[in-house]
Amino acid sequence: MAETETATGAGVGVGEREDPDKSPQAVESAKESAAATGAPKPGQRAEVSNLDIVRHYFEVAADKLGIPEDVRTVFWTPYREVTVQIPVRLSDGKVHVYSGYRIQHNGARGPYKGGIRFHPEVDIDEIRALACLMTWKTAVAGVPFGGAKGGVNCPADKLEASEVQKVARSFMDKVEKVLGPTRDIPAPDVNTNAQVMAWLMDEYGKLHGHTPAIVTGKPISLEGSLGREAATGRGCVYMFREAAPHIGLSPTETTFVVQGYGNVGSWAARIMQQLGARMIAVSDANGAIRSDAGIDANALHDHIGRGGLITEFAGAEPIDPADLVAVPCDVLIPAALGGMIHEHNADLIRCKMLIEGANSPTTPAADRILRDKGVYVIPDVMANAGGVVVSYFEWVQNLQHFRWDEREVNDKLGTIMRRAYREVAARAKEENLHLREGAYLVGIERVAEAAHIRGYV
Ligand code: NAD
Repeated sequence: MAETETATGAGVGVGEREDPDKSPQAVESAKESAAATGAPKPGQRAEVSNLDIVRHYFEVAADKLGIPEDVRTVFWTPYREVTVQIPVRLSDGKVHVYSGYRIQHNGARGPYKGGIRFHPEVDIDEIRALACLMTWKTAVAGVPFGGAKGGVNCPADKLEASEVQKVARSFMDKVEKVLGPTRDIPAPDVNTNAQVMAWLMDEYGKLHGHTPAIVTGKPISLEGSLGREAATGRGCVYMFREAAPHIGLSPTETTFVVQGYGNVGSWAARIMQQLGARMIAVSDANGAIRSDAGIDANALHDHIGRGGLITEFAGAEPIDPADLVAVPCDVLIPAALGGMIHEHNADLIRCKMLIEGANSPTTPAADRILRDKGVYVIPDVMANAGGVVVSYFEWVQNLQHFRWDEREVNDKLGTIMRRAYREVAARAKEENLHLREGAYLVGIERVAEAAHIRGYV
């Protein structure tokens, strides 16, 4: 079934530079030394992998749906996995070799769709997990795509822009054969943005002619969609608005905490603030800050945009990032990496609602602890679907060569997010399940139905 292409070579030497190269070997040895120190500290990522997390939730739902083992294998294993070697000469004069992946998990419902991340901890299992999650997410949102994900294990935040461009173009050169506007359409993810999408589109265009629908999340000047950059954060806020009345929260009296002040986290925060909610603590990879009087989400975004450190932001106290999740608040929004809420810190959490802006931020053990504590969890598979929904709108606009205005984009996003919440909440209520299980049931059922009707299985 699964078709595997592997073009990875051992070859070119990995050079040494001030910021150590994160080749697969280096990442492996870093993981080993981390493992040797035992359990993660409260602010660190969990020992359980993203793949373990997604697999666990898939199996729980597949059991409930009574999917037999043979068919379960079809829905769990990826359809196609491509691994490529990306040798790039960096400013230290040496060639650094990174590994790039594009994994197409399931295309029963439409072309594969999913982001590309540039991060030193990217590995094939993480991309498998994220691709699988995309399959259920597009189905829960009801947009006509399958699920995919890509990544390169480069330390993008430590590279110069020209070096990131080389990585992006080299990656596209090597995976373009499996991509296409009706085959597989990448998008931004961790450490990739509209600029990176522009380079990817340009590289694809050299071989295939101008093809804006090959990637989404592009700059507005290159047929990107209005509202796409904010879409994932905005989608999280639509979820909050749907769920808030059920647990007695009113936006103007809501306090919230954000872990990870990047695209998703900062947009979620800025839109929550527009509703009158107050951000009282926030972190990024450089540290964490807290102010019970409130942290201005717009001013913090501008400060970081100017190159300022989060910990240098005026009007808030630096805190240990490990303490962030323990700050009492109404809503906690993890919007950084996977596995950040785990069994060693879940018990510290003091929020009423947790909205998973990030993918797989919560391990199954942590999820159980949060349930016991009565925290209302809006899972990644629905909470952060706003990005792929507006990516769908961008793709539609590109195919039509017709731009929608931002209000239209945001309104249509709201319609889809509300529908997804209501459908999942109804299913969960019907079967006396939590939202995550309800969402997986809805997603897997829709994929299975499409696969059967197509005659795939
Ligand atoms: P981003 O690169 O813009 O932001 C990531 C943020 O996390 C940065 O501020 C970084 O400093 C911070 N961070 C990294 N390590 C951290 C740590 N240990 N503690 C606290 N903060 C840390 O990425 P993004 O696009 O905002 O993606 C964030 C998450 O949302 C990822 O899990 C991604 O898969 C998910 N997601 C993104 C989109 C999208 O449209 N961009 C869509 C769906 C899901």
